[in-house]
Amino acid sequence: MNFKHITVAGSGVLGSQIAYQTAFKGFQVSVYDINDQALERAKERIAELKPHYRQDLGATQEETDQAFDRISFHSDLAQAVAEADLVIEAVPEVVSIKTEFYAKLGQAAPAKTVFATNSSTLLPSQFADSTGRPERFLALHFANEIWKNNTAEVMKHSRTDMQVFQDVIDFAKAIGMVALPLHKEQPGYILNSLLVPLLEAAQRLLVREVADVETIDKTWMVATGAPLGPFAILDVVGITTAYNIGQAKADATGDGEFVRVANLLKTEYIDKGKLGRATGEGFYKY
Ligand code: NAD
Repeated sequence: MNFKHITVAGSGVLGSQIAYQTAFKGFQVSVYDINDQALERAKERIAELKPHYRQDLGATQEETDQAFDRISFHSDLAQAVAEADLVIEAVPEVVSIKTEFYAKLGQAAPAKTVFATNSSTLLPSQFADSTGRPERFLALHFANEIWKNNTAEVMKHSRTDMQVFQDVIDFAKAIGMVALPLHKEQPGYILNSLLVPLLEAAQRLLVREVADVETIDKTWMVATGAPLGPFAILDVVGITTAYNIGQAKADATGDGEFVRVANLLKTEYIDKGKLGRATGEGFYKY
């Protein structure tokens, strides 16, 4: 892997974190977003990350300032990618936005440049043809609060070149991530393929009145040695996200149990302001 210049496209919640983490580990980073206003917001977001690196990682003021100085900001795509060895795409999770972005990027970037999508729910094969370089394209999926929750799921699609796959795994390690290779496409990657069914099963046990929240969590924790049970995890994820997922499943399947789960989350938690850890109370008080 001889990546030196990295471009991050989309500088929202995740893009700003990816850009700063990459710069913190010594790479030159270009940030691309649609206009100057978005870039100003990106500068603020990135500056707001500095104290977290000092508190959580023990970084010095000088280290966090130097990392910021390795980042340049661009609203001109051709300029943003002119030297890019790797472009990490973190634009909104909307198929049409990503498809149009890849078509433009494929034209603007040098032939050597590798493209990686940070999409949480869309598969890389969906955009491979739009990139014009399917063999140099794959998924590189980070978690929120990247500097602490340092997983990087690296996922091929069927046409990704094996050397590109290996280079991106090596890059993920070079920026301090635990690299997790996925050799085939998998909706939800590894983490959500495991976690979503667990969280759903817990909510179904609750609405069936099989057991209460504490008992369900205690069972999982004592029996497996896990530090948190499914309802404590839901408090971290946020009840609103859990509700949105449950409501979408209820609408799509008409399954009465999903409807009851969604109603419970809405009336007993969301309507009472109990949104999870972020608000001090969800299934538990914090
Ligand atoms: P966000 O809405 O916070 O940020 C999106 C950014 O993209 C904004 O800065 C916006 O101005 C910019 N943008 C819009 N259109 C653009 C375009 N055509 N070209 C370039 N930039 C454009 O979104 P986010 O939460 O950072 O999510 C971005 C991607 O990361 C999504 O694919 C999402 O699935 C994924 N992701 C998000 C999280 C999370 O916890 N938020 C975690 C992992 C992965």
